[in-house]
Amino acid sequence: MTSGRNNLYSILDAPEPQAIRPLFGFSNQQLALLSQEFSLPPYRARQLTQALYRDWAGTLEAITTLPQAVREQLRAAGYDIGRPRIAETFRSVDGTERYLIATADGQTVETVWMPEGDDGESGDGSQAGDEEAQGHHDATICVSSQIGCAVNCQFCLTAKLGIIRNLTPGEIAGQVVAVLDRHKVRIGRDRINLVFMGMGEPFLNYDAFMDAVRLLVNEVGIAESRMTVSTSGIVPGIERFAEEPVRPKLAISLNASNDIVREQVMPITRKWDIAAVMDAIRKVPLRTRERVTFEYVLLGDVNDQPEHANEVIRLVRRCGLPAKVNLIAWNPGPGIPYTMPSPNDVERFQQALVGAGIPAFLRRPRGRDIYAACGQLKRTVEA
Ligand code: SAH
Ligand code: SF4
Repeated sequence: MTSGRNNLYSILDAPEPQAIRPLFGFSNQQLALLSQEFSLPPYRARQLTQALYRDWAGTLEAITTLPQAVREQLRAAGYDIGRPRIAETFRSVDGTERYLIATADGQTVETVWMPEGDDGESGDGSQAGDEEAQGHHDATICVSSQIGCAVNCQFCLTAKLGIIRNLTPGEIAGQVVAVLDRHKVRIGRDRINLVFMGMGEPFLNYDAFMDAVRLLVNEVGIAESRMTVSTSGIVPGIERFAEEPVRPKLAISLNASNDIVREQVMPITRKWDIAAVMDAIRKVPLRTRERVTFEYVLLGDVNDQPEHANEVIRLVRRCGLPAKVNLIAWNPGPGIPYTMPSPNDVERFQQALVGAGIPAFLRRPRGRDIYAACGQLKRTVEA
């Protein structure tokens, strides 16, 4: 086959590369069923769980607790670990790392590692600094739930991608394990927080997202009290979340102080307005000392003025729940028609909330230089 036409023909005709069947993402129960299918004793499922989620085995060969014959049997049936892997790393001057994580179908998602946690989630930003130097970690991992996003918030770079596809439970939990593995984190010793605030809207991929949470809690061993999920206000998702016996903390992207402004910046408000979102949040049974977080992206001259702060105060009071507000100065992105708020406006906004007795924290922009900050995740390949 020498002619160009034939070459082209043969390429188009080439068989799909054999898709592997990923083991990573299977729950303990699913691994038990798999063991049954292969007529293996039940303890083999426990060994697989241990290898995948505690020892972070990267290859079937590395699972030395399984006899060679069993590993070969699995491979012959098309199984492999199939954990997403870090394809590229961008490191910020502030220590933040942004990863492009490759999925089996050649897509990439973004995951961010923030040493010393993320002061927005830990509360007051007063955590100790040089723990990595002392040999242990205190960090927050920002996890993606979809490739792209369908919600179309006007200030967000991820929105520009549109929705490409949902991630599977293994791809969501796998981002976390890939990053834990890279930093040689020791679960139990190191303080790791997870925020589901990367690309995508977790509550539009609800089942996979919650399956991933259960894997991370039950098998990887990260407490749900160290996890926060952020939603743009998908009411049916919040209502399901309210029924979950094991769940992360809840953050709501409020981003505007009334429906008129919110409709402009978050068109999803036409579907579920602020009152509907508030009604849904009130159904979530809070744990002792738990607060709901309202995230508020400050957009220069759009939602950052004193009258907006007063409206936010009224909204938070009216919702009647223990709450805090995380203020995020808008991070710019190419082609997005907003401006950053002035430092004075930011300061005044925060003071207004704090003065009204509402805990309000200013989230430090992390890794802006590598496009790792909130709303900048768009699979940017430049550093
Ligand atoms: N889709 C979910 C979670 C991911 S976005 C959600 O919207 O809640 C995480 C946070 O980043 C949200 O609060 C969002 O409002 C904020 N954000 C989006 N774009 C931003 C930008 N350009 N600058 C600062 N924050 C941004
Ligand atoms: Fe999607 Fe969140 Fe970005 Fe809105 S802010 S487009 S919901 S990722």
